[in-house]
Amino acid sequence: MTKSENLRELELYIHIPFCVQKCKYCDFLSAPADGQVQHAYMDALLREIGGGGETCISRGTGDLVVSVFFGGGTPSAVDPAWIVRLMEAVRARYDLAEDAEVSMEVNPGTVTARSLRLYREAGINRLSIGCQSARDEELARIGRIHTFRQFLEAYRWAREAGFSNINVDLISALPGQSAADWEESLSRVLELEPAPEHISVYSLMVEEGTPFYEMQEKGLLELPDEETEREMYWKTAEILQKSGYEHYEISNYAGKGFKCRHNCGYWQRRNYLGFGLGAASLYQNVRFQNTDSLERYLEMSPDCRVQEQRLELREQMAETVFLGLRMAEGVNLREFERIYGVSAEEIYGEAIRECVDQELLERKGECLVLTGRGVDISNYVMAKFL
Ligand code: SF4
Repeated sequence: MTKSENLRELELYIHIPFCVQKCKYCDFLSAPADGQVQHAYMDALLREIGGGGETCISRGTGDLVVSVFFGGGTPSAVDPAWIVRLMEAVRARYDLAEDAEVSMEVNPGTVTARSLRLYREAGINRLSIGCQSARDEELARIGRIHTFRQFLEAYRWAREAGFSNINVDLISALPGQSAADWEESLSRVLELEPAPEHISVYSLMVEEGTPFYEMQEKGLLELPDEETEREMYWKTAEILQKSGYEHYEISNYAGKGFKCRHNCGYWQRRNYLGFGLGAASLYQNVRFQNTDSLERYLEMSPDCRVQEQRLELREQMAETVFLGLRMAEGVNLREFERIYGVSAEEIYGEAIRECVDQELLERKGECLVLTGRGVDISNYVMAKFL
């Protein structure tokens, strides 16, 4: 279906919570599971997408799906036939735009040339490959199941399968990593032929409940200090920009025309529906969330929601500002006024003045954007608008 002005743009997120093994830094809702559990889950997921539950948001409600994102977990850890069936279920229930971006996260340790061909045939047109590092000792240290050579092989197979929109995920500031080690990883990825259309680089965060958190508590985790971490961040931006990538969001870089439509939708507060364990949704300013208990999810599907919250106007405004600030283009103040009928200055005058005085925010045309200093302490800046 082509776009029409009468249709609202909608995004779908589909969560597949299985992984071969848990990485040592990961606090995502994911875990290893046997074939029987995977089967039961995928059946429940198909039931949820197929509808018939309390949600009535589906074909014919004026929504056009402009992006679908299979995330996890590791969507490539399940039999590719499930991905084919999920895509069929999406098409049966939703109006999918002809040019919809359909992304899937894959782990290089779980794909084959055949599975990648099947994904492409099923309609996946963007891959996000979790490389994380080009150095095998680092990959082993953080608990990844693959080597860099396996990543290279997966990347080649993906190109051979016809993927012309590939994101490579990397993590900087890993335990024991020097600035030179990090630059080596980055340059190995930039040597790929053809180069990735998109690169995401996140600095390692040690999250509670992970093996790395426990190691840190015991003083056993040797991480680069904050200054080195920031140096890595700005060096990354410099190298990738020199290589032709646009630094369009705090952690994301895109070749021309390859910004991730799905993630841009989150930052611009487009409506999205999440399916699967713990998946979150935002629809017409109502946020809702599925249960994060696998047992309950299997029982409840297709009615899996356990939380629902209608956002007050002030909450909507706050989200518009702090999500918008993640993007290099920032918050469009004129657009803010058009949506809410009141200027951002009227609502957040003091916070804006304070941040501008401290050179954390600046005005660019009709937009409010983070300065370099603001990016370094972006959580502090964003908290001012909450
Ligand atoms: S593969 Fe991804 S989701 Fe799975 S444990 Fe590792 S980081 Fe987490």
